[in-house]
Parts: sequence; structure tokens; C-alpha cells
Amino acid sequence: MNIKEKDSLYIANTYARFPIALKSGSGSLAYDDDGNEYIDMATGIAVNTFGYSDTEWVRAVTEQLNLLQHTSNLYYSEPCVKLAEMLCEKTGMKKVFFSNSGAEANECAIKVARKYAAAKKGEDCYKIITLKNSFHGRTITTLAATGQDVFHKDFLPLTDGFIHCEANNCEELRELVKKNNVAAIMFEAVQGEGGVLPLTKEFVETIFDLAREYDILTIADEVQTGNGRTGKLYAFMNYGVKPDIFSTAKGLGGGLPLGATVLGSKVENVLGNGDHGSTFGGNPIACAGAVNILSRIDEELLNGVCEKSNYIKEKLTAAKGVKSVSGLGFMLGIETEKDASEVIAECRKNGVLVIKAKNKVRLLPALNIPEELLIKAVDVIIDACK
Ligand SMILES: *Cc1c(COP(=O)(O)O)cnc(C)c1O
Repeated sequence: MNIKEKDSLYIANTYARFPIALKSGSGSLAYDDDGNEYIDMATGIAVNTFGYSDTEWVRAVTEQLNLLQHTSNLYYSEPCVKLAEMLCEKTGMKKVFFSNSGAEANECAIKVARKYAAAKKGEDCYKIITLKNSFHGRTITTLAATGQDVFHKDFLPLTDGFIHCEANNCEELRELVKKNNVAAIMFEAVQGEGGVLPLTKEFVETIFDLAREYDILTIADEVQTGNGRTGKLYAFMNYGVKPDIFSTAKGLGGGLPLGATVLGSKVENVLGNGDHGSTFGGNPIACAGAVNILSRIDEELLNGVCEKSNYIKEKLTAAKGVKSVSGLGFMLGIETEKDASEVIAECRKNGVLVIKAKNKVRLLPALNIPEELLIKAVDVIIDACK
């Protein structure tokens, strides 16, 4: 039996996989089990920040692996403290709770918001406004936060207390805030799964104005947009705002499971002893890798991301068969005249891996993708769009 047959026999049928099995990789190149080479423009959905088996990251992870793999949170551990210090110093935030995924990072953010609002504004202040077309995770509560009915059906009832507002509709947001007892507003600065749609500056400013006026917490879901992806360390930095809480995961670990809920001064002491926990959260190996990843996301790298992003946007916007290009930095969505799945299949046949977001072709290359590979990949994508 080959991999594909065994997979359909033994793996729950939740994923529509592309018809290849990736076996190894190096930087922005990946190889399947037939030995075919691909330029990877998707990085395992914005996870492999510096590509496959990046030498420095592998060294950081291996060194920790040889020291000790896990301690539990009953003991102090240096890698997670180091990572928390870096996250706080780079963002001006105060404290971090570590978990293992984006959904968990959001769950923690929601718990913090509920506890803060209940203590400050009373127990019936628990509503959280999230945006239509958002994606916040697959647990029952983060599904409730996710503003897309397609993910909800079959799993009702979901956790109570979420209201969905149309993204970039300032008027609707104002109305919802006025009419409800709102604890927090949660947003992705660029909606990833929703189709790579950036929020407008006006809308983000409205969120923060309303938050100030009504004493509402702001939560930025930086699970996909974070860790350099949009050309800034975190996507909210593109808007000149600072949320009370942000969650991140995906690219933070560079390929190992790691989530972080990062708390600002208003909420740094909301969670107390026993309020929350995670067996694996802050795992030393994942954190040692993440310390290496974060230490390398500097101005020079981010400027490179922005320059290369402009190159991709210019080339693709002018390309035949391309209707529009959306997104920020290395989080881009291409709306094509052809069906996106067709374009993706054509790219794969010609040695370039890209993925889908709604009706768009989504690009999430490694932050350090070499120029020559990027140029090659863009040419392949352009050909596939024709
Ligand atoms: C991927 C994603 C999540 C969920 O992350 P998991 O690690 O799959 O739980 C949450 N929010 C956003 C914005 C995401 O892109």
C-alpha cells in the first residue's frame, strides 16, 4: 500500500490533501518522495519562518533536545523565560502565557478578556465582537469566535457570547458596541483563511477609539500574521496601534508547535495561580527554536520582506489572468480568472507549491527566501495564471 492509500485508511478524513508526499527540504526547496523538487511558497501555512531544516534553527533545537526535552510547568525553565522576555521587549507587552497552537493561544486570550471584564464591569459583561469572515481556530470556543458559518454547522451549540461584525464596517461596529455589553473586540489585521484581506486603517482606528471610549479590551489574533509575516514583527504594527492582548503561534515556533498569548499592562495580572495551564505549553525545545527565530527577525530581514513583497505584487498585478493581489508583506492573495485550484495544480506540476485561501491563490514564502528562487517561483505562477 502506498502512503496515499494508507492515509485514507487510517487518518480521519478531515483534510483534502494535495497529491504529493513531502519527504525532505532545505530552505525554500522541498522534495517529494519521488524526488521531485519544489520551490515552497507556502511554508506549511506560514509556519516554517526560515524554510525547511534551517541550519541555525536546527542547531538551537538540537542543543536543547540534547539537554532535556520537557520539564512540565512545575519547574522553572530557561528557554521559555528567555522567549517571554524577548516577546515583551520587542513589543512593549508585559507577560506571556505559552501553549501549543493558535486555537489555544486564542482560548487563553478569551479567558483573560472574560475575567477582566467580569471583575471590572460585572459578570454580564462577557460579549466579544469578532469579524465576519475571520478565522480563530477549531475548538468549540474559537469556532464560536470564527465568523464563518461553514465552520459552525454540525457542531452546535457553540460557546455563547460572540457577535460578528462585518470587517471594515465602522458604522456596524459602532452600533454593536453601543447595543451590547462588550468585553473585547478581536481581529486579524489581515484575515488569512478568509481570503488574505487586510483591514483598513480607518477600521482598526475605529476599533481602538471605541475600545478607549467604552473600556473594551482589544485582542489581535496574530497567529498567521505574526512573527514578521506582514513585513513588521506583528501586523498591528502596520497600523500604529497596540492591542491589550495578542495571540500568536504558526511562525513563532518555526516548525514546532508553540502558541503564545501576550498580555499588555492592563491585563498582565488578570490570570492568577491555577486559572489556566498547559502540560506542553512553553516546551523547552519549541521555545529554544523560537528564541532563535525571533532573534533573527530584524529590520534588515523585514525590509527584505517588504521589497520582495513589492516585487511579487508588481509582477502579479500586471500579469495576464490576474484580477487582483491583496495582502501585506509575505502574506499575499491572488485573485485569478481561472479557478484557484487549477492555478495551484499547474504551479505544483511546474515545481512551485502554493495554497488556497477562499477563491484566491495564497502565497506565504519563507522570510529569507533567496531572490533567485522567488523570481523563478513568480514566473511559474504568472504562467499558471494565463
Ligand atoms: C491558523 C490560525 C488559527 C488556528 O491555529 P491552530 O494552530 O491551527 O490552532 C487561529 N487564528 C488564525 C488567524 C489562524 O490563521
